[in-house]
Amino acid sequence: MTIFDHLMAGALPASFVHQDEECVAFMDINPITRGHVLVVPRKSVATLDELDADLRGHLWEVARRVGVAQRQALGSLAQHLLVNDGKGASQTVPHVHIHVIPRYGGDTLRTVTRLIWHISLLAAKRRPRENGRDALEALAQRIAAAMPATGG
Ligand code: AMP
Repeated sequence: MTIFDHLMAGALPASFVHQDEECVAFMDINPITRGHVLVVPRKSVATLDELDADLRGHLWEVARRVGVAQRQALGSLAQHLLVNDGKGASQTVPHVHIHVIPRYGGDTLRTVTRLIWHISLLAAKRRPRENGRDALEALAQRIAAAMPATGG
């Protein structure tokens, strides 16, 4: 089982912005920018190749809707959609996930530095900051409230 399986089972804390039969979306515990969300299939596999096409499409659609909600709720301007699709691509949790990383303007140097740091695997050495849970939960509730309907 992956750490994301434990989150989905409720055995570890998570701040959810979306849950359906096929996938969930929750706040990243070490956000690259404020409001960073992960979209994760319930099926526990490491790479996109191991999902069927319908589920891949569903994940990308949920990620797109999360971006809409972040812009509406947090005032972000745009977002990165990032997949580290396997260990050789610096994936640290072997369970498919789409990072939805909001951008706010004037944040290029800081964000790109943090992205490079993340992909270099240095971020994996950081200990999760559980003391930030209240802030993550507050952000999750704002994003969840702004999630558009399917197709919206
Ligand atoms: P990757 O390097 O693409 O595998 O990204 C894994 C992501 O999972 C990182 O951004 C971590 O901060 C995030 N992560 C790890 N553990 C947790 C957790 N318990 N709750 C939320 N996000 C997590």
